[in-house]
This record gives sequence, structure tokens and C-alpha cells, in this order.
Amino acid sequence: MPQKKPSKQIQSRLDQVREAMRQKSIPALLVAHPADYFYLTGFTGEDSAVLVTSRSVVVVTDGRFEGAADKEVGWAKVRFRKGELTPELVSVVQSARCSRLAIQPEKVSVATRDALRKGLKGIRLVDAPPTLSELRECKSAAELKKIDAAIRVAESAYRAMLKTIRIGQTELELAARLEYEMKRRGSTEPAFGSIVAIDANAALPHAVPGQRRVKKGCLILFDWGATVDGYRSDLTRTVFVGSIPAKFEAIYEAVLTSQKKAIAAICAGVRMCDVDAVARQHIADCGFGERFTHGLGHGLGLDVHESPSLSWRSDQTLRAGMVVTVEPGIYLPGLGGVRIEDDVRVTSKGCQVMSHLSKSLKTAVIDVGR
Ligand code: ZN
Ligand code: ZN
Repeated sequence: MPQKKPSKQIQSRLDQVREAMRQKSIPALLVAHPADYFYLTGFTGEDSAVLVTSRSVVVVTDGRFEGAADKEVGWAKVRFRKGELTPELVSVVQSARCSRLAIQPEKVSVATRDALRKGLKGIRLVDAPPTLSELRECKSAAELKKIDAAIRVAESAYRAMLKTIRIGQTELELAARLEYEMKRRGSTEPAFGSIVAIDANAALPHAVPGQRRVKKGCLILFDWGATVDGYRSDLTRTVFVGSIPAKFEAIYEAVLTSQKKAIAAICAGVRMCDVDAVARQHIADCGFGERFTHGLGHGLGLDVHESPSLSWRSDQTLRAGMVVTVEPGIYLPGLGGVRIEDDVRVTSKGCQVMSHLSKSLKTAVIDVGR
């Protein structure tokens, strides 16, 4: 039976978005980012978009997702396009007879925006308020459960993978094993392209796994996550095979303490930049200030990188229910890098660390088979 009414949760999200539209005198909102329209309607199809007005919700998709549309958005109008998405959107927006159309500026490509502007005669394109991203920042109990499940899968897969590491294996082999172990445990896809980076490759915060091989005394950085019911986890651990060089021992302790201090500073009402500053200050005090080259963390949920940004650039405050990563790192070009990342839920009294893999210096030194 197709649903004739949206669920209570979906209805409440729609109500909140419509209220923001009303306040900003926006008659129509185009939602084109899959995680956003899934959040707002429950529709899982790809290459689709949703038009929200005060009276209607129109899902624009194609024949591949007819079954999903029937099951998930039986209560909405559904248009199946034959050709490209953008011309179909132009036609749907035009038939809604609105004077203005709001789009999410950070989530629509310049090409799509230009094509919409060209196609929409007499309809002005305006920037949507950040309501949808802000709603998504604070997770419901049901969402927290799904993120938690994605963390459990990632952690268990990591432990299983560690046991299989052998001297001579490549980064790609380790990444494949990690992703295989996650799938075996119910992850539908890796939360993002898994990073397995050995030695100098680990000096790149966004390293791509390749043919570097595990050898005695090497450093391996793993940054990976699972997807369960659409929700993601995102973890990083750095390990040393057999022994840890003195220089990296100091770096590891600096990163670990920086992360612990930042986690202790997290609480609803605290500014993002102030948490970032706590982590950054400790790393600077250890003499590696120049080598922490990215923000401290980011929101996590249906997307692996979503609002808020836990960085020096943001004076936004933390709110209870937000889930953020805390991932300081120190990178020495040509030598390697250390990053430690956990997923944390913000509460009114502080925070709860949702991930539980060990990270002490002692457990970062591992033995591997030959
Ligand atoms: Zn990560
Ligand atoms: Zn991350």
C-alpha cells in the first residue's frame, strides 16, 4: 500500500522548512542534494530533486525509481522525467507559478544554476535559508541509533582487518579488506573512499591508497567509515608496525592529548572556533603548530561531511544533539602523519564519545604476521 500521508517525522521536517520559507517570503524551494531530499521526504532515488511549495511536494525522478517512489513518497506528486533532470525541473517550477525559486547555493552546481536561470523566464532565483542544513545538524534519537550502528560496524571491521595485516601487503589490499569486513557486517557502502596510507603517503590528509607496502617499522594511517541505514561513521587511527620512532612517539602523544583536550571542551553553547583553538593550541605548544593543516572536525550524519564545521572559521555554537568528528593531525611531508578521529555527540552538559576503539600509544604499536 502506498503511503497516503507523510510520517509524523517527515511532516514535522516539512512544517519547519515551510515555516522558514514563509518567514523569508519564499514561495518555492528546490532541494537537489540526495541527503537533503531523503531527510525531507524519505525518498531514496538518485539523480532526482524535490520542489517544495506551501501546498505541494513534487518529486522529480526517473523510471528506475518508480518502485521507490511508490513505497516512499506515495503522498507526494511524482514526475517521471524522460530526458535530462534540469529541463524537467524548469517545467515543474514553471507549472508551480511562483515568482521566486530558492535553491541551496552550496549544493547546486554552477552549471545547473545557470541552466535554471536561463530556462526560468520571469522567475527570480534566490538563495535558500540554511534551515535544512541546520535541522540536519541536530540528530533525533532514531538518527543517533543509526550513526551508532555505523560506528559499531566500522570498529568491528577494523579490529578484524588488523588481524589480517601481513608484511608486504599494499595499502589497496588493506583498504579492500577493511571494506569487505564492513560489508560483511552490514555496511551498504563505505562512508567515503577509505584511506589507508603508509609512511610518506600519510603526510597527505586526503591520501589515496596505492601500491605502498607494509614493512617493519612503517606507519599506517587508516581513515574509514561504514554506512548503515543511510547514516555514516568516520574514524581514523594511526598504527606503527613493530616499533615507533622517537619522533613519532612525541607526535602521537601531541595529537592524542590535543584530541582529548578538544573533546573535554565540547559542550552545547561553546563556539566551534573555541574548540578548534583548544586542539590547535596544544599542538602549537608541542612545536607542531604549522603541521596541523586542516579544521578540527565536521558534522556527520547522512553525509560524511555536513554542517557544522568544527573549525577556526566558524563562530557558530555547538547545540545538543549535534554529532561531530574530532580529528586533529600532524603531518610531516615526506615522512608521514598522525591523525586520530572519533565521533562525538554534543550534550547540554558536555559530550559523549560514540566511538570506542583504543587509541593509547601502547595499542598504536602493532605486531603483524609475515
Ligand atoms: Zn575521517
Ligand atoms: Zn572526518
